[in-house]
Amino acid sequence: MNSADKSLVHDRRSACPGLFRMAQARDGGICRVKLTFGNLTSDQARGIAKASEQFGNGVIDITNRANVQIRGVRPGNEDGLIDALLGLGLGPLTDKGDDVRNVMISPFASLDIRLFAMRVLTSLQTSPLYQTLSPKFCLFIDGGENVAMVSHPHDLWLSPITPESHGSDYAFGVAGTPPVLTEDQPALGIISSERAFELITAILDLFIEWNERNPDASRLRHMIADIGKEELVHLLEQRLDTFLQAADLPQWRRTPPQPNGHLGIVKTTGNSPQTVGAMPPLGRLNPHMLRILAAITDQYCTGILQLTPWQSVLLPCVAIEHAQETLDALHSLGLTSDLTQPMATMISCSGSAGCKSALAATQSDGARLAALLAGISHIPQIHLTGCGKSCASPMAKPVTLVATSDGHYDIFLHATNGPSRFGKLLASNRTIEESAELIGIKFGSGGPSHA
Ligand code: SF4
Repeated sequence: MNSADKSLVHDRRSACPGLFRMAQARDGGICRVKLTFGNLTSDQARGIAKASEQFGNGVIDITNRANVQIRGVRPGNEDGLIDALLGLGLGPLTDKGDDVRNVMISPFASLDIRLFAMRVLTSLQTSPLYQTLSPKFCLFIDGGENVAMVSHPHDLWLSPITPESHGSDYAFGVAGTPPVLTEDQPALGIISSERAFELITAILDLFIEWNERNPDASRLRHMIADIGKEELVHLLEQRLDTFLQAADLPQWRRTPPQPNGHLGIVKTTGNSPQTVGAMPPLGRLNPHMLRILAAITDQYCTGILQLTPWQSVLLPCVAIEHAQETLDALHSLGLTSDLTQPMATMISCSGSAGCKSALAATQSDGARLAALLAGISHIPQIHLTGCGKSCASPMAKPVTLVATSDGHYDIFLHATNGPSRFGKLLASNRTIEESAELIGIKFGSGGPSHA
């Protein structure tokens, strides 16, 4: 790679925050801490709370890849924050492995899936070749769980064809999501569970070889746009010396996950421990909340807190007799699991308080909108974004408010075929009060209108 290429990679990375690289925002530096599968011990949670007060402005975001972001890092505090986070055991396995810690699994994944995903994550962090991947390059190892974020697009995904059978073959795809609906893009191929790791490294190796000839590109979708999916399958079959197709693969669909299954008490059979989940307002915590969450985690479960790609928190392994008490404690802290409260699912970017590109104060507008719609049944997930970049969500949500000016938004409803990336325009340039009224009329009377 020549020096011009290196500077291009550097520029591309510099826009994306990491543990060692604080991207600059209106409210200060942003430090993104990439967690292994969203896991945080209670001690680490307390440490993050302290570090965010000591080195930042006390705002702690949960991201849509189940990571945390410490915001408002003041100039000169960067090294102190990095040392504090490394001291908490939140660093990567190798110095250059931070950016590529992008393997997502369901918070309910089995031990087998966790071990497989850990092998991939370790390989990404320790291979000098894979360390050159874009900080946005991401993988999803699906286990077919009932609760999983399957609509989040990934560079590469694997999903078991028959999750109920041990050692099932995996379907796989690139630049997209496992197919759930008839109209979704079908899987690209099929691979045995024994060779699934080999398939992943073969795809990464092919991408990196292609990327050397195309240094401006950073994602698998760019490679697919260049060579096409059929050619990728052909190259993989040559490299792995196996067929990757099956007659019924185009018809295979993943079982749809349970909507909002990450909220409330997630029941299991018998007297098994329960999982308890709730959503902080707009996926954002402060040091006080994080300390109390750590205490709840110590009191009611195994000392491990899980953050989720829905920007919520989950407490695994809560004894059945303590599940309601645990949920009540989360509610007392201001977290929500009640779906009649829009805050249970609402997400937003930082808005004008934290971002120079924002046209509106999405965080405070979101809180107002949630209050106006509180108690109305059937309000779907709402996403407020300060501009069209949509940092808080990589895909269209059922309702998206895109800021047009201070306190004003265009309202979009999700539609499979656009016309916009957010769906179909419901109304333009509306205030929060007008938006609440329109959304309430559209969805509030027992279900979405199909007019
Ligand atoms: S979506 Fe736009 S306004 Fe919101 S944080 Fe991203 S760049 Fe800023």
